[in-house]
Amino acid sequence: MLDIKIQKTTTPKEKPAKGAKLGFGKIFTDHMFIMNYTEGKGWHDARIVPYGKLSLDPSCMVFHYGQEIFEGLKAYKGADGKARLFRPDMNAKRSNMSNERLCIPEIPVEDYIQAVKAIVKVDEDWIPEDDGTSLYIRPFIIATDEFLGVAPSKTYLFIIILAPSGAYYENGLAPVGIWIEDDYVRAVKGGIGFAKTGGNYAASLAAQVKAHDDGYSQVLWLDGVERKYIEEVGAMNIFFKISGKIVTPMLNGSILPGVTRNSVIQMCKSLGFEVEERKISVDELVEAAKTGALEECFGTGTAAVISPVGKLRYKDDVFEINGNKIGAVSQKLYDTITGIQWGKIEDTFGWTVDVD
Ligand SMILES: *Cc1c(COP(=O)(O)O)cnc(C)c1O
Repeated sequence: MLDIKIQKTTTPKEKPAKGAKLGFGKIFTDHMFIMNYTEGKGWHDARIVPYGKLSLDPSCMVFHYGQEIFEGLKAYKGADGKARLFRPDMNAKRSNMSNERLCIPEIPVEDYIQAVKAIVKVDEDWIPEDDGTSLYIRPFIIATDEFLGVAPSKTYLFIIILAPSGAYYENGLAPVGIWIEDDYVRAVKGGIGFAKTGGNYAASLAAQVKAHDDGYSQVLWLDGVERKYIEEVGAMNIFFKISGKIVTPMLNGSILPGVTRNSVIQMCKSLGFEVEERKISVDELVEAAKTGALEECFGTGTAAVISPVGKLRYKDDVFEINGNKIGAVSQKLYDTITGIQWGKIEDTFGWTVDVD
């Protein structure tokens, strides 16, 4: 159990009006959670303080060598007025998996969940209530030793900030176009691809810019060695419906193990679909697109939830999927997962957790 000191702001900000366009990750609440780590002392001084700027020495290790990890989850305000989290234990465990890879000290899962609940509780009135909106929760850990040598830091900050957010994509559930990247790579097995850390995103920007310039909203990565097997999208895992089966790349050390991915696999199985987690070559995908065996394609992630893919580009070929319309399975999964998150559908999986 953490002993969390709470210092409330004396100058609360104006909350976004009902119906306001929130965007994603642009507006922040009145408070933030902070906890320090010091070697020999462990995690200490858990506190909730007014949201504000950090004062850090320019020599802090995180600025130079990228020793940091982050998470992303959401709080939802149900029709019954209750605030809920979705599978926060998965984020706490994944955070520790990332920590282990990045040589950052672990945080006990119970303490992590306690911290998330505490900050959401303090800013509960910031959870937006319009359809499709939620409070995006961004926990992260940064290395703070003031030292330019390359070594794991001996001090860290664990911080949680909150951002009331609308739909991730401006066009809602409209299918997106995806660029299959055949030159740059994101991650390799043995590297940090399975960890949720900024370095993976830094590595992804150049391809993202290239794809955007060509009118595609996301990059689909191929494996870093052969550039042959499908891995994942920038901030989403990827699923295909091929000849009636649901297929997704198996976790291989370079793919981020998404909470939404895990939930979608369970939902698909409970809907009676055969689900295959395996290697999928880009050639198999191109062939399936050409013959029409590729019936649906969608990305999964906390921010976007389910993002239907209507167009795939690989080298000189462009394929349309399902007439560039959302498919029946994608729609069903979106309705089910968001129904559970907003407390509109019975949570038979036991995934939601009350904030209280
Ligand atoms: C966070 C993330 C995902 C999606 O994970 P969820 O737990 O479903 O939000 C997928 N890929 C990458 C690279 C990510 O950082």
